[in-house]
Amino acid sequence: MKEDNYKFQWEDIGDLELGRPNLGNTTHLSVYRLMQYTMRSVLNKELGGIKTSELFFQAGFVAGEEFCKKLLNGNLKFFDFVAQLQKTLKDLNMGILRVEKSDLEKMNFVLTVAEDLDCSGLPITDETVCDYDEGFIAGIFKQYSGLDFDVKEIDCWSTGDRVCRFTINLKDGN
Ligand SMILES: [Zn+2]
Repeated sequence: MKEDNYKFQWEDIGDLELGRPNLGNTTHLSVYRLMQYTMRSVLNKELGGIKTSELFFQAGFVAGEEFCKKLLNGNLKFFDFVAQLQKTLKDLNMGILRVEKSDLEKMNFVLTVAEDLDCSGLPITDETVCDYDEGFIAGIFKQYSGLDFDVKEIDCWSTGDRVCRFTINLKDGN
C-alpha cells in the first residue's frame, strides 16, 4: 500500500470474520473519529485546511463509488435505489437518511442525514465538517447514474443544526 499508484479496492478491507473472531466487526465510534480528526490535524498542518477538505471529499468520492458497486443494486429505479441506500446506511449504523426534496427532471435533491458518523455531537464551530460525506454522496450518485453532481453540505451539527443537510445538483455539462 506504500506504492505511489496504490488504488483502493474493497478487498483491502480484508476478511473481518477471519481476523476478529472474538472482537467482531464493530468498534466504538470515538475510535473512528479519533482516526479521522487526527488525520485531518496532520494533513491540515502539511497541506492546509482547504486542500485537506478537498482530499477528504475525494476519498469520500472513491468510498461512495466502491460502496455503491459493492453493496447497492444500481439497476433499481431512483426511489427504490434511495430506499435501499437508506436501509443500508441504517443497517451499517452509518446514519439515518431522509430525502427532503427531489426534482428528478432537473436532477436536484436535498438529503439529510441524522446521527451521522462524522459530526453528530461535535462542538459548534460554525463551519460544516462533513467533506468526506459530500464526496461519499457524489460518488454514490456518480456510480448510480454515470453523471456528475455538485454536493454541498449546507447544515451540519457543527453549524448548530441537528442533521447534516446536503444539496445535490446536477453539474452543468453532463
Ligand atoms: Zn455534518
